[in-house]
Amino acid sequence: MNNDNSGDSRRILIIGTGAAGYSAAKAARLQDLEAEIIMFGKENHLPYYRLRLCEYIGKSVNYDELRISNEEWYEKNRIRVELSSAVTAIDAKARKIIANGKEHSYDSLVLATGSTPIMPPFKGKDLSGVHTIWTVDGIAAINKSLLNAKKAIVIGGGLLGLEAAYRISEMGIAVSLIEGMPRLLPKQLDEEGSEVFRDKVQSLGISIFCGNSVEGFEGDSNRHVSHVRMADGMLLDADIVIVSVGVSPNVAVFRDTGISMNRFIEVNENMETGIEGIYAAGDIASVSGRWFGLWSVANRQGQVAGANAAGGNAAYRADDVPYMLATMGTRVVCSGDAGVIQPDDSKAAYTIDRKIDKEKYLYSKLVFRNGLFVGYMLVGEPAGAFSKLQPLLNTNASAEKINSILYG
Ligand SMILES: Cc1cc2nc3c(=O)[nH]c(=O)nc-3n(C[C@H](O)[C@H](O)[C@H](O)COP(=O)(O)OP(=O)(O)OC[C@H]3O[C@@H](n4cnc5c(N)ncnc54)[C@H](O)[C@@H]3O)c2cc1C
Repeated sequence: MNNDNSGDSRRILIIGTGAAGYSAAKAARLQDLEAEIIMFGKENHLPYYRLRLCEYIGKSVNYDELRISNEEWYEKNRIRVELSSAVTAIDAKARKIIANGKEHSYDSLVLATGSTPIMPPFKGKDLSGVHTIWTVDGIAAINKSLLNAKKAIVIGGGLLGLEAAYRISEMGIAVSLIEGMPRLLPKQLDEEGSEVFRDKVQSLGISIFCGNSVEGFEGDSNRHVSHVRMADGMLLDADIVIVSVGVSPNVAVFRDTGISMNRFIEVNENMETGIEGIYAAGDIASVSGRWFGLWSVANRQGQVAGANAAGGNAAYRADDVPYMLATMGTRVVCSGDAGVIQPDDSKAAYTIDRKIDKEKYLYSKLVFRNGLFVGYMLVGEPAGAFSKLQPLLNTNASAEKINSILYG
């Protein structure tokens, strides 16, 4: 055990104060009541519900509501949190890290540094009014730019871009959404589903440009963004631009430490890296080559990493996680083999049951393989349908029965 500060207790350091870091600290405390637990976070805020950030677009952040636990919880659980403390180096051989120029030794180390939004090398990307979304401070900056904005452009039609576009349009600001792929949510929805979803988005007054790429941004004399230039030369007016084209894992500080990584840190189902005593969880980790980028997964992986860092023996089993999106006043759910990707089992007999109501922006697709209900896709999910349909997957439930759940 490490003896440099507090006697014989195990010393667990956690790098990152996001979902994975928080649940690692909580699980470590449950596993070992005596351990010394210290979290290091680059941000100046205690862990908060990052996935709820878009709720605060256009209004001031209620941090009491947003944070996961208050100061008393950390005190009660004897979890020390070092805020504004980016870890800048790790010495895996000496079992030490450096934060704010100070060395800290450990018995176990959990890496949970999460993601950073990608900003492509667009010309003009440093103009004021050009933003990405990932932090509380980032939302505050967006809100400042929105104060006098009349036209907003969101680049990227994924979960985050859609939600940002929706929240900004609700403020009465004209929004255009640019998606490089030929249609919205191409990985989640087939063409019919994507069309219904697009119609719903357009019904809210949001303009959509699919299959278009952005070349860069132009600014006014104050170096504030004024236009987005498309690759085909088209110029779109913009007082604010939100870039939401994906994330990259914060792994730079772990390079050259001997920790095995490709784009992500590779871990086994115990969230162990190849180096004894070092665990990784959340958006930076890939388990047996699988990466999710999801809140619930970061939470669960953090629990496993934290428990094991404190001497436990927990395992993370990577299930197929359904895709769920609640935005634009509708809900999109895709689960199981919903048939977006062509089945590789050509001998299987697939039956598809589709229903479209263009006026109400509703779409359902039920997929059956050799008579088994294997997947579904819903745009405009009726409340609670997910929890009713999910247990029916891989059973002989009929289309009639499932449709009666969906449509009564
Ligand atoms: C607006 C928004 C909406 C989202 N909506 C959903 C949703 O609906 N459903 C869903 O499943 N997921 C959603 N996500 C994604 C989800 O939030 C992430 O998958 C999750 O936060 C990952 O958790 P994490 O702990 O791995 O990383 P992060 O949440 O990124 O936290 C990592 C922390 O580590 C800190 N850090 C980084 N480097 C260092 C360092 N060197 N030293 C110290 N600290 C460091 C970072 O500052 C950060 O605070 C959303 C994300 C955003 C931004």
